[in-house]
Amino acid sequence: MSLVDAPAPFDLVALAGEIARRVGVKAERGMPLGKLTTMRVGGPADLLATAHNAFELRGLVRFARARGLPLTLLGRGSNVVISDRGVRGLVVHVRAEGSRIDGTAYVAEAGLPMARAATETQKAGLSGLEFGLAIPGCVGGAVWANAGAHGADVRAVLESADVLLADGSEARLPAAELGLAYRESRFKHRDAESPAEVVIGARFRLTPASESEIKTRLDDIRHWRQEHQPLGIPSAGSAFRNPAEGPSAGSLIEAAGLKGLQEGGATVSEKHANFIVNDRRGTAADVRRLMDRVRARILESNGVDLVPEIVFMGDWAGWPWAAADGGAA
Ligand SMILES: Cc1cc2nc3c(=O)[nH]c(=O)nc-3n(C[C@H](O)[C@H](O)[C@H](O)COP(=O)(O)OP(=O)(O)OC[C@H]3O[C@@H](n4cnc5c(N)ncnc54)[C@H](O)[C@@H]3O)c2cc1C
Repeated sequence: MSLVDAPAPFDLVALAGEIARRVGVKAERGMPLGKLTTMRVGGPADLLATAHNAFELRGLVRFARARGLPLTLLGRGSNVVISDRGVRGLVVHVRAEGSRIDGTAYVAEAGLPMARAATETQKAGLSGLEFGLAIPGCVGGAVWANAGAHGADVRAVLESADVLLADGSEARLPAAELGLAYRESRFKHRDAESPAEVVIGARFRLTPASESEIKTRLDDIRHWRQEHQPLGIPSAGSAFRNPAEGPSAGSLIEAAGLKGLQEGGATVSEKHANFIVNDRRGTAADVRRLMDRVRARILESNGVDLVPEIVFMGDWAGWPWAAADGGAA
């Protein structure tokens, strides 16, 4: 029996029924997850449920925690590569997309796309979230990663986040308590014994500016991205983090002549060396093998051990290096 066929240790039919009864959300079995990610790879979830609002998100997280059911949160799937073997337990697709303007603040639920945050705040004459246009993820994923682009990041504008803590309580945590740094946050560093903390929503402190001024910045970002990133082709953004010192990951990979390097359907992008693109026939294993090769080559040529920025989510048991925390709670 292959690992894919191995029975899950939970009674998934019973759990799906309970989720429907207790949380009021439909949970589906064996749904392929690749189409919920920008890399377009990955096997099925044991159970997949979509949270359309913060109430459902809280309910699903609390249900999974109460049952000891492995929980994985998926935003827009723009920073993840999901294993071909899929994800065990419950995957919650966060589509809570409420938002409002409150004076000079912008308040959004975790599933709101960052690009929408950028355009909604522009229309309200509030500046600070323009960089969101470059981030194809949602608010929860952006806080998790302290996503940033074009000289700005979440840390620069976040006032607070509403968080479901590991002990089951919910708190409004000021940004200063979130450990935000370059692609870093407290959410990436939980101890293995505790459930992961979940971002329910966020409040951003913005600055009044003219709508047309902000629009000009949005147009610049749009043009820059079209010129420099392989848009319209499946990818998960930057594959590796930039090293703390010295050249960027992309410069190292390009200088090593690795643009165009291929593993199955995965290729180091010719347009941006730190992007791995999928020709739509690639698998998660192709992407991971290619990243392994790039990493080994840069270690050999430059003595730099590149750290993946992409999150390897799901069942990667048996792969040589430990996957970054995939958000399982
Ligand atoms: C073409 C392209 C360009 C990109 N450019 C940039 C860029 O310029 N700058 C940048 O920083 N990133 C960039 N990215 C990467 C990505 O968009 C960001 O990291 C984004 O913040 C991920 O958000 P998401 O909703 O897609 O998260 P996902 O990929 O769905 O999840 C990422 C992690 O966050 C966790 N998570 C998701 N929601 C929650 C929640 N509510 N609470 C707790 N944890 C949660 C997940 O469990 C997972 O571990 C790019 C990606 C692509 C495909």
